[in-house]
Amino acid sequence: MISRNQELKAIAINLRKSVLESLTTAGSGHLGGSLGMADIFAVLYFSIMNHRPAEPSWPDRDRLILSNGHIAPILYASLAHSGYFAVEELKTLRKLGSRLQGHPGRNHGLPGLELSAGSLGQGVGVSIGMALAAKHLNKTCQIYCILGDGEMQEGSVWEAAMSAGHYKLNNLTWIIDRNRLQIDGDTEEVMSLEPLQSKLRSFNWEVQLMGGHDINDILFKLKGRSNSQKPVAFIAQTIMGKGVPEIENNPAWHGKVPTTSQLEGFLASLY
Ligand SMILES: [Mg+2]
Repeated sequence: MISRNQELKAIAINLRKSVLESLTTAGSGHLGGSLGMADIFAVLYFSIMNHRPAEPSWPDRDRLILSNGHIAPILYASLAHSGYFAVEELKTLRKLGSRLQGHPGRNHGLPGLELSAGSLGQGVGVSIGMALAAKHLNKTCQIYCILGDGEMQEGSVWEAAMSAGHYKLNNLTWIIDRNRLQIDGDTEEVMSLEPLQSKLRSFNWEVQLMGGHDINDILFKLKGRSNSQKPVAFIAQTIMGKGVPEIENNPAWHGKVPTTSQLEGFLASLY
């Protein structure tokens, strides 16, 4: 019998497959971060989030804000495999007139997309506003925001963090893609973030580490989130490019895509 965790792992591999295929067809885009977040997206969209793909505007839905909008391919794959639109449409990624723009754009009418994103440090602020609005309206929905570790070098991230702590937003969860890499290399060499946990705690957040590829741990941590009355930040220890050994931990793959001839080998090596 297949366990729920094995099912989620299989879904994550399918999402990675779609990411590889859609980016290869597009011929450009951001691969490393998209592959690295596949396990977390699988757990969010297929286990944790309360959402209705057939009713994308359902007022009580949980919201997912992708603040690091450049990893759009993993969001699009998650939405398509959840049933918001046909998986076939993933092939239109980055095409002129497509609903699947290189950075997500709300005005293209893609169902399930909550925010136009790509300007780093912006989505996190919107997540604060959404969490405040939900409280004001007495909604019980949860607001999840995904952000990159390199993105945390933006000053606006810390202004948003300060607001969330001040307003005790216990309906807000940030998941930080802590792959320790950004486009120019190691985050600690470009502009060090550490000690990240104590910085966030000093802004009145609850902070926990999360194994970014450990389905058990992702599930356990996200299910336990409701125990805290503060905004919660999970620092997800991820590997950029996870799932394709040739790509893993190599910042050169931040914004590069496979050639058609590389694709077959990468798909075969997926794990
Ligand atoms: Mg990073």
